Amino acid sequence: MSEEVENNVSSIIANYRRKALKELEKKTRSPAKAFSFEDLILQIKRPYFKSIDPNDTYKVVFYRLLRWSWYLIGPPSLYAVHLYSTGFKIGSLLVYQGYIRKLEDLKMLALKSGLGIVDILSSKSEVIVHVYEGITCSGLPNVGYTLCHFEAGVIAGVISALRGERYHALEEACWGTGYSFCRFRVRKYGK
Ligand SMILES: [Zn+2]
Repeated sequence: MSEEVENNVSSIIANYRRKALKELEKKTRSPAKAFSFEDLILQIKRPYFKSIDPNDTYKVVFYRLLRWSWYLIGPPSLYAVHLYSTGFKIGSLLVYQGYIRKLEDLKMLALKSGLGIVDILSSKSEVIVHVYEGITCSGLPNVGYTLCHFEAGVIAGVISALRGERYHALEEACWGTGYSFCRFRVRKYGK
């Protein structure tokens, strides 16, 4: 990551991380009573990305229309698997083609692509990753389940390819479950 961008983003990440860790202490969150298709497309909260790209809203709306339209016509569980495995494939390719050489490189790629602001909290055998302002869910109501299967797949694909072993990413917190960020726990497959 270039020094200038790193300095700008690192203070944003520090603020988000402080808020996120506080939120995790609070346990129960009730799903919203009702929400519409429009809510899933148009409720967006990405102040950083909007500050660097005035067209960010259009990008997010387009991505979400694509994501949710498939969801409306297909079985949700099948779609989750499809999104995860697509993400996994892309994550692996980013490593095999040399775009990502170490886990930290994922941060810049996620920023440039608008996927989200990636924060790596632990990169030992078990990896903990937060994503702030994620393209899939940032700003969405609490729908009662996690939503970022694509991002989970990308993270697992990157780590698996970097380490030469199969890893699996589980999303533990999401706007979809009432948080204001996404948290992924990545473990070696089968553990
Ligand atoms: Zn999420």
